Amino acid sequence: MKIAAVCLAAGQGKRMESKVQKQYLLIEDKPVLYYALKAFQDSPVEEVVLVVGAGEEEYCKKEIVDFYGFTKVRAVVAGGKERYHSVFHGLQAVTEADYVLIHDGARPFLTQDIILRCIEGAKEYRACVAGMPVKDTIKLADNEQNIESTPERSRIWMIQTPQAFEYPLIKEAYTILIEQEERGIKTSIPITDDAMVVEHFLNQKVHLVHGSYENIKITTPEDMRIAEVFVKK
Ligand code: C5P
Repeated sequence: MKIAAVCLAAGQGKRMESKVQKQYLLIEDKPVLYYALKAFQDSPVEEVVLVVGAGEEEYCKKEIVDFYGFTKVRAVVAGGKERYHSVFHGLQAVTEADYVLIHDGARPFLTQDIILRCIEGAKEYRACVAGMPVKDTIKLADNEQNIESTPERSRIWMIQTPQAFEYPLIKEAYTILIEQEERGIKTSIPITDDAMVVEHFLNQKVHLVHGSYENIKITTPEDMRIAEVFVKK
């Protein structure tokens, strides 16, 4: 059973309002991206494909992969315009795998427990994603910013990464998505995670496993202050 991971770090991070891209900002004395790669290095994952901004491949290989000795990183490839383009590039660079975990490099607090739950979930259900039940009440808004409806809170989960799949399944789903895009066919709603791609194109049920409330995505400046607290623990 070979398990691979695609780690995404090709976003521009515009909401961070920083000159340095968020994946290279330091938490304590290490770049954000270090932490997820370290978790994969210490896990049963055998091969990691790192997806970075076009033109940053050499820098990342030298300053992060080689510098910290991440021997499981077998390829550093350029991402694309949207997250799903980056995922597709990453999936194409996986040499061979039975299962693949797709993870946002901007989520540094990935643990071994979460990785193992995702692997087990993928083995049992073919497709699974990490997430957590929401703490707040969630409202659906209409175009005028009025509340349209209030879904039952106990059924709402916020979705994180890793998202884990049988490798041929996720590759097939992404291939259909990209082929449709090339033919000018738009999806009905924007693709914001990987589960959506197998749900939408292959009608595949996706299981939910617990991530953690600390498995945050670094997005805005206050997230860096929260990250400093978490890393000190
Ligand atoms: O933009 P957002 O924070 O949702 O991005 C989630 C993850 O996807 C980040 O790790 C980011 O680097 C990555 N990403 C990417 N390629 C893009 C957009 C986002 O690899 N075009």
